[in-house]
Amino acid sequence: MRITIHRAAQIGGQITRISTARASILIDLGHNLPRNNEDEDPYDNDPAIAELTKGCSAILYTHYHGDHIGLFHHVPDGIPQYIGEVARQVVCRKYKELCPDNQSKFCQALDIASRMHTFREGETLRFGDISVTPYFVSHSAYDAYMFLIEAEGKRILHTGDFRGHGYLSKGLLPVIQRHIGQVDVLIIEGTMLARRDETILTEAALSQKAAELMKEHKYVFVHCSSTDMERLASFKNARMYPHRFLMADEYQKDILDLFSATAGRKTSCFNFGKVYTYSSNLNDRILKDGFTMFVRANRSSNVLLSRIFPLLPAQEKPLLIYSLWGGYIDRSDTKNENYLKLQSRFTNVVRLHTSGHATAETLRDICELTTPRLAILPIHKEKEADFSSIGIPARLQEKIRTTDCKISGVNIEFHE
Ligand SMILES: [Zn+2]
Ligand SMILES: [Zn+2]
Repeated sequence: MRITIHRAAQIGGQITRISTARASILIDLGHNLPRNNEDEDPYDNDPAIAELTKGCSAILYTHYHGDHIGLFHHVPDGIPQYIGEVARQVVCRKYKELCPDNQSKFCQALDIASRMHTFREGETLRFGDISVTPYFVSHSAYDAYMFLIEAEGKRILHTGDFRGHGYLSKGLLPVIQRHIGQVDVLIIEGTMLARRDETILTEAALSQKAAELMKEHKYVFVHCSSTDMERLASFKNARMYPHRFLMADEYQKDILDLFSATAGRKTSCFNFGKVYTYSSNLNDRILKDGFTMFVRANRSSNVLLSRIFPLLPAQEKPLLIYSLWGGYIDRSDTKNENYLKLQSRFTNVVRLHTSGHATAETLRDICELTTPRLAILPIHKEKEADFSSIGIPARLQEKIRTTDCKISGVNIEFHE
């Protein structure tokens, strides 16, 4: 068996290959995260992906973030691609937005996304002698999964991106205890290792803080990820104290309606109810009762704000809640100019965020519950971040591998 980890020592651009003599699968095929607003990735072309995916039986995506799925449109036709059912619909809606005229380069990507295969939690897929079972996780993308991969008598757990402090995290440890247990190899994300100073609120605690802000401000605009269902729900639920209207643009409304029709059927937490869009003007009731509006950092949101601001009473200063990672604003290498531009339109900006990734404590819990026999392979982490700093016992620390090695018939390779 061979495990090849690409770009382990960076956050983003995730690609893992697992091969036996008879079959080979890829977990994620992600684009590098943009740095300094440059969007470069040496794999972002058809020939590079054709070469990388040669001999591949299938590609399975943990979730729909670009750093895990961003290169899917380069995959040659004959290789099946798999993702969660709701995740596939989110990807399609995203690309529909980018392809309004059926002509742009994104239209082909929309076509490929709409033909992706889907999987369900707990149902095992088989590719030659490799079996893959997806298990649901909480992350800042809905319908995200970790994968248990079984082949040649070995068991590998690939966590994807996940966390222990979301609404949907309750099943994380019980599922690992009940359905997964000990593994041979643990491939685990380490995003938060270099962000230890960040405050980690539970999603529920964040929602309470949002409710406090909404008591004080009648017109609240929220800048968060348009596809982070749990975060969107935190702000939707906060708005109930007091009642106010929920507003969004057409794209965001479609995403919220999709979440209501899927996760929202199981719990009211994710039922977004009626979402209003801004059409020609705001009706009097919306202005009287106040609103929470999800905004995006793009041209159309800016146009929308230019129309809405003059309608608001002068004494009510609108509030912008920024609910994304602080590095997009504060760090020179990851700064996002569009986010800054959006903030510059408000005099009142508050930050309220919590991570979509596992804390050191949660990472430690996963290592201890799965007690990997052969290796722990950290991925999705900053180069200098040291995985052993999470405080696992020495017998587990010894299993951490970050360079090429061969252990009990498993070849482990790291590619830049
Ligand atoms: Zn992610
Ligand atoms: Zn990621």
